[in-house]
Amino acid sequence: MLLHPLPWPDGKKMAAAITFDVDADSLIRNARPEDGHLRLAPVSMGRYGPTVAVPRILETYRRLGLTQTFFMPGWVMETYPATVEAILKAGHEIGHHSWRHEDPMSHSDEREAELFGRALDTHVRMTGRRPRGYRAPVYNATPGVIARLIGEGFLYDSSLMADELPYLLTAPAGELIELPPHWGLDDWPPFAHFEEIGYLMPVRGPSDGIRAFIEEFEAAHEVGGFWMPVLHPFLTGRLARWRVLERFIETALEAGDVWFAPLEAIAGHARANRDLLRVDTVGEGAA
Ligand SMILES: [Zn+2]
Repeated sequence: MLLHPLPWPDGKKMAAAITFDVDADSLIRNARPEDGHLRLAPVSMGRYGPTVAVPRILETYRRLGLTQTFFMPGWVMETYPATVEAILKAGHEIGHHSWRHEDPMSHSDEREAELFGRALDTHVRMTGRRPRGYRAPVYNATPGVIARLIGEGFLYDSSLMADELPYLLTAPAGELIELPPHWGLDDWPPFAHFEEIGYLMPVRGPSDGIRAFIEEFEAAHEVGGFWMPVLHPFLTGRLARWRVLERFIETALEAGDVWFAPLEAIAGHARANRDLLRVDTVGEGAA
């Protein structure tokens, strides 16, 4: 059961959003700033995302009539402008995901504000609009980050994990809709093997790894919940893994009772039903 059920539009039973964080080679360049550009294997693993996987994912979405959300660091947008153009042309949302995937906890809040602003300028210049949503690198939102999102008029954050449904995040600066991720719906644990950044996991078979996401979907479907996998093109956009997930999406669409939407629309719906949301507090004075 869900403590604070949220009715979905058009009588749909549940809400679903497949989100892709297009981190590309920002990961290795940020993790190894001195020599990351010389490490061609991890650079190439990242480059696979915007150049090979994203076009494949966009083709699936086009065929199935889906509009979804991508999060992109500003540096990745500037490095891969054709990818940005293809995503926008197909009507998908692009959310703010830092400048070059810097962990907000790895430097001062002043430095974070500078990097955040730099990425925001890139969004406005390349998309013609301000992003409505944000996801922190490695989910590491800080009270300073949340205050900045509120101050900049963002509609939602998607980094914190205090519920399974959209909830209302209150902070000294105001409030924000939170669309909660979870490590159980993230593709790093089953699929990432990235020695240079110290992430060494036994890589699971495609259907084995994606089965966990499907079980999360089934549980959400049963109670009218919210399903939001946090995926990365260089991991789940690979041929065999995407084939498994693509077939599952086709099945999920057949039932006709799932509201697949970009996060912006789901956050807007949550905002319109603000009084039904659970409230969680962050920032000064919060536990
Ligand atoms: Zn990321």
